[in-house]
Amino acid sequence: MSAPHRLRLQLVAAPDIMRGTMKLTCSFLLGILAACAWAQTSSLTAEVETVYPDAHALYLDLHQTPELSSHEIQTATKVASKLRDLGYTVTEHVGGTGVVAILKNGAGPTVMLRTELDGLPVEEKTGLVYASKVHTKDDSGRDVPVMHACGHDLHMASLAATAAIMAHSKSAWHGTLILIGQPAEETISGAKRMIEDGLMTRFPKPDIAVSMHVGNTLPAGQIGVGPGYRFSNADSLRITIYGKGGHGSMPNSTIDPIVIAARVVTTLQTIVSREVKPGEVAVITVGYIQAGTKNNIIPDHAELGLTVRSYKPEVRQQMLAAIARMTKAEASAAGATPEPKIEHLEATDAVYNDPALAQRLQGVLESALGKDRVVRDEPGMASEDFSYFTAQGVPSFYFSLGGADPGKYAEAKAAGTTLPSNHSPLFAPDVDPALHMGIEAEVAALRNLLH
Ligand SMILES: [Zn+2]
Ligand SMILES: [Zn+2]
Repeated sequence: MSAPHRLRLQLVAAPDIMRGTMKLTCSFLLGILAACAWAQTSSLTAEVETVYPDAHALYLDLHQTPELSSHEIQTATKVASKLRDLGYTVTEHVGGTGVVAILKNGAGPTVMLRTELDGLPVEEKTGLVYASKVHTKDDSGRDVPVMHACGHDLHMASLAATAAIMAHSKSAWHGTLILIGQPAEETISGAKRMIEDGLMTRFPKPDIAVSMHVGNTLPAGQIGVGPGYRFSNADSLRITIYGKGGHGSMPNSTIDPIVIAARVVTTLQTIVSREVKPGEVAVITVGYIQAGTKNNIIPDHAELGLTVRSYKPEVRQQMLAAIARMTKAEASAAGATPEPKIEHLEATDAVYNDPALAQRLQGVLESALGKDRVVRDEPGMASEDFSYFTAQGVPSFYFSLGGADPGKYAEAKAAGTTLPSNHSPLFAPDVDPALHMGIEAEVAALRNLLH
């Protein structure tokens, strides 16, 4: 879409310079620059076309063979063998099923590009001819359906195609390229395990890390970029409140943990509304309460499950401290002993884009892909364990890849509705434009960073 516009700029430049004014000379130079950008875009598009059939075939294969978190055995083998065939030095089983592939190309920076490997226990209902029909046993032995409902299959296909282009164009960059296939993103455990298994010590430590995520919040053919926070801190808590059980007809002989739990749920709402500074990003959700077995029995304990989201570390600490203080105080007010148990089950830090790096790459991507295809992306409240890499002192750039069918996206926008999100049984990226764009964006970013 942007190419004919640029070509027109080039053509109108010729008579301008003949008139010899400064203004028109500038117009001429702008025309040349635009033409160069067009040539760059068009040659990148042509490079992508050469690897696209393989990338698309890999996508279809991976989509139909998803594996659950930490069990990405066949997936990792496929990714590893693709990268090995391209001349990368590949190490498998890093932090479980993780893959690390390195291509050294002279002196220069070390840049890491990451894809996730895992699917989700979701039954695909997209109706696509290539829909997943996979079932497997989960870690608890239950039979579950499996689907690439988060689009990690598209990330893998894009990374493999990017790997091919980078391997075939070594004169266009220099330095060390590290590609990683990270397991278990959905359980927020794979990045940590790769680091514990020596990702930053057994292999060259990256100067910069890059990753992307496909979703339906943008139409396919666009990418979203932005500086600073991209995803939130996430803390999962399990709170057990201990009471004193007994007969439902004799509450005077009991300490009812259900009533205490109910008070805790409402008291916790005041943390965000009354204690956190207005304007700060903060969410506390009690996702479940479990207690009791029968209507005439007062149970002896109640359990609550919470997710707590924030951006700033100080807001995160403020909320966690307030949750503990209020929970213990409500139990104490009811005379319940022992004091509630608060377990921190999972935690991940916010994904944060280095502002200078994000600004630089926004410009790079705008000139490589076309300004109309790069939009400013709002930060979200989802979470990602990509932050574990950044926490190792590696500045990072995380961007969004549009996945929505552009027609359906426009219809939904006009109707004020939303398309199925990631993790939905109906999540189905518009593969061709999304995958083309993912590869172009990755190659453009890597070539700039490895220059
Ligand atoms: Zn996901
Ligand atoms: Zn995901």
